[in-house]
Amino acid sequence: KFITFEGPEGAGKTTVLELLMVELQQSGIEAIFTREPGGISISEKIREVILNKEHTEMDSRTEALLYAAARRQHLVEKVIPSINKGKTVFCDRFIDSSLAYQGYARGLGIDEVLSINEFAINGFMPDLTFYFKIDPEKGLKRIAKSEEREKNRLDLEDLSFHKKVQEGYEKVITRFKKRIIVIDAEKPIEEVVSDVRDALKVHFEF
Ligand code: C5P
Ligand code: MG
Repeated sequence: KFITFEGPEGAGKTTVLELLMVELQQSGIEAIFTREPGGISISEKIREVILNKEHTEMDSRTEALLYAAARRQHLVEKVIPSINKGKTVFCDRFIDSSLAYQGYARGLGIDEVLSINEFAINGFMPDLTFYFKIDPEKGLKRIAKSEEREKNRLDLEDLSFHKKVQEGYEKVITRFKKRIIVIDAEKPIEEVVSDVRDALKVHFEF
């Protein structure tokens, strides 16, 4: 099974995934947790190129292609082999991030970004996606001023950009609603973890 976590900055995706992994491992479920862009050496390097604050000259199409390239390598090198070994793979962000951020918020067009990603993914889509819904302003307030954020080019974006990201996600959800579960990410983190856990029991009986 391939399960992805989506949502804006500060929605708690990473924290929830970390807590969920502990619970799943205690239940004897063979699961791995990975992230995008990144997860393996080549894709972590691409991540560094994309997010580097000095790269203000980066063109939006270049950015979209780099995300797609990082995605491709991560899929073939880590995600697909793990699934073939019978593991469940949980991924922090995937294609829907590209559709919402580059396709909609950066204005490249959801369909255009979908088509380059279809080339990259070559038919491999998530079995299930959790969308962490949170007001973008609340999300932004939640994220700590970490060292990683200080170096992140997205740190330069303002609230209006993040509102566009949310609008983009809403469009993506409507379009792919069959595989997407909306999670109320404004709740306390423990409740969010248990909501995700319950949904996994319903969908996959684990
Ligand atoms: O999820 P994470 O916080 O690690 O993402 C790193 C940064 O990359 C964030 O600022 C996120 O908004 C940005 N991003 C993006 N477009 C994507 C995926 C992530 O701008 N397709
Ligand atoms: Mg995160």
